[in-house]
Amino acid sequence: MISDTFSDRELDTLRRKLLAWYDRHQRQLPWRESRDPYRIWLSEIMLQQTTVAAVIPYFERFLARFPNLQILARADEADVLQLWEGLGYYSRARNIHRTAQLLVRQGGKFPSDPAELVKLPGIGRYTAGAIASFAFQQPAPIVEANTQRLYARLLAWDQPLTTAVSQKILWNLAARLVSPTRPGACNQALMDLGSQVCTPAAPRCEACPVQVHCRAYLQGCQHRLPLARQRVPPTPVTHLCIALRSGSRFLLHRYQPGERWAGLWDFPRWENNDIPCDLFPTRKKNRPILLPDAALHAPWLSAIEDDFSRRFQARITLQRHLVTFRHAVTRFAITLICFEATTSARSLKQGVSQQKWTSPADFPDHAFSTTGRRLANLLTRSHPE
Ligand code: SF4
Repeated sequence: MISDTFSDRELDTLRRKLLAWYDRHQRQLPWRESRDPYRIWLSEIMLQQTTVAAVIPYFERFLARFPNLQILARADEADVLQLWEGLGYYSRARNIHRTAQLLVRQGGKFPSDPAELVKLPGIGRYTAGAIASFAFQQPAPIVEANTQRLYARLLAWDQPLTTAVSQKILWNLAARLVSPTRPGACNQALMDLGSQVCTPAAPRCEACPVQVHCRAYLQGCQHRLPLARQRVPPTPVTHLCIALRSGSRFLLHRYQPGERWAGLWDFPRWENNDIPCDLFPTRKKNRPILLPDAALHAPWLSAIEDDFSRRFQARITLQRHLVTFRHAVTRFAITLICFEATTSARSLKQGVSQQKWTSPADFPDHAFSTTGRRLANLLTRSHPE
C-alpha cells in the first residue's frame, strides 16, 4: 500500500484553508454558474487539450445552439462538428453526440456515480470525477494536469508522474483531499490553485494558502518538481493538398468513420514524404506566391500530378502553389503544401468516398478540418464570385 505523509488532521486543516482561499479567489467561469451536469460535462470535454480562454466562446455558442441533452441528441452530427470546428480533436465532438443519444435513449439523465459515468464515450476517470463532484456533490477525486502538479509538490514527489506508482499515489492523495461536505468546491479549488498559483515554471508560493503544508516548499525544491516529462520529438511528415477546380467550383470530400477528421470536409490530400518542402515555402502575409521556377520545380510538379493520378484515378494539371501550412497533429509535425489544379475528370474514382463540387460561396455551410478551413478561406478570397 502506497501512502503519503499527511495525517488526517493535517489534511483537514489544509482543506479548510484551501476552501477559504477558494471562497475569495475562485475564477468566474460560464460553466460554474450552475450545477447542471450537461453544462459541466460539455465544458469538461471541451477543456480536454484546450485552454479555458479558447473554450469560453465555443462553450457559449454551443450552448446557445444545443441548450440541452435532448436537442443535442436530435442534431445532425455534421451540425455538431460545424460548431466544434477550430477546437480540434474532433473525436470529442463525435463522442458528445453519441453520449447525448445514448443518455436520451436511457431516460435523458446523467448518472451521478463516477463508475457509471466512465462507461460513457469520451469520459475518463478525471472527467467522471469532475461531473460527479461539481454537479452531484459526490466526493469523487480528480487528477488532471494542474492538480497533478500541485499534488506532486505537496508531496515533494520526485518520480516521473506517468508511472503506475506515481499515478496511484496522486489519486490516493486526491481521494483523501476531497471534502466530504463540499466536494465540488474542493476539487475546483484544487484546480484553481494549481492553475493560478502553483503554476508550472514559477509557483507563487508567497500567495499560496497551503504553503506551510507543502513538502516541496519546505524542502526548497518546488521549482524542480514535478520532474519534466521526457518529450519525444514530433515526427516530420509532408502532406500534399489539391484545390481541384472545375469552372468556378472546387472538389470537396468528406472523411469517413474511422479516418482522422471523420465527418469533416477537406480538399483531397495525402502523405508524400519525397517532395522537398523548402521548394514550396510558407506564403508571406499578403504576398502571392509566384509560379515556380520551371527548371527547379517542373520535375516535382509532374511527379505530384502522376502521384495524384495513381492515387485518385484522375489526371490533373497543377496551376499554382497556393500556400504551405505547418501544423501539429498528435505526434506529427505536418508540412501541408497546397496547390490549385484543374481537371476534366468529373469525379475521383478512388481514395475518397463522399465528394462534391462546391462553390466557395457554399464553403461556410461545411465543417472543415482546421487547415481545410484556412485553405477554403484563401480560395474564397482569391476566387470571388
Ligand atoms: S507552496 Fe508553492 S509549490 Fe507548494 S503548493 Fe503552494 S504554490 Fe505550489
